[in-house]
Amino acid sequence: MSKIMSNNYWLDAWQQGKIAFHQSTINQFLLFYFNQLNIKSNSRILVPLCGKTSDMLWLHQQGHKITGVELSNIACRDFFIENDLSYKLTIDNKFKRYGNDNIELMCGDIFAFDDQCPFQMIYDRGALVAFPPIMRQEYVVLLTQLSMPGTILFLVAFESDCKPMCPPFPISYTEINDLFGHHFTIQQLKKQIVSEIPKNMLEHGCKKLFFSAYLFVRF
Ligand code: SAH
Repeated sequence: MSKIMSNNYWLDAWQQGKIAFHQSTINQFLLFYFNQLNIKSNSRILVPLCGKTSDMLWLHQQGHKITGVELSNIACRDFFIENDLSYKLTIDNKFKRYGNDNIELMCGDIFAFDDQCPFQMIYDRGALVAFPPIMRQEYVVLLTQLSMPGTILFLVAFESDCKPMCPPFPISYTEINDLFGHHFTIQQLKKQIVSEIPKNMLEHGCKKLFFSAYLFVRF
């Protein structure tokens, strides 16, 4: 899957409402581990490939400023509408910015995203695994640029023995170490079996699937 195919895949998914990845509740790993991450109050948190996750609202309610980056206008708009939040739409360089003082969603391709000021935390749930393996390296370079020594990266991913043709693309502990180990310390917090394997993954021979949660600290 190339970059263009990947972007089209996601834009179509939003257009057609095929958003099974979207959770109506706050992510269980975020809820469980967040306090242990000791994020300073009023931090800037980046949520790459944010979709319309309510995790952003929850993170803001913990006292932080949120920047999400998302390809689909539908997702950005629906986040504010469904949460009954006011927002302004502005054009900010290559991005459409849907935002208020607390939460801003930058609509566009994350690989065009650039921010002068590094983030104190990055929350990746379903972002790394949304990219086909050939795009991972470029994503890691970007996260390295958007962070600074001490930045916490909290990652929620999938791990499996199979290689599906469409997202999510599972990733192993070894692959994560190879990708991030040059710039981050890596601690696996959790590996938890997924009881119901999604249909597309079963079709690609995934017999076992795990959620995995990691804490990275940039050095
Ligand atoms: N983190 C969210 C969504 C995960 S699904 C959640 O937990 O619900 C991956 C999301 O990334 C989709 O909403 C998709 O539209 C978006 N996306 C995929 N490629 C992207 C890119 N290159 N730039 C920005 N967003 C992208």
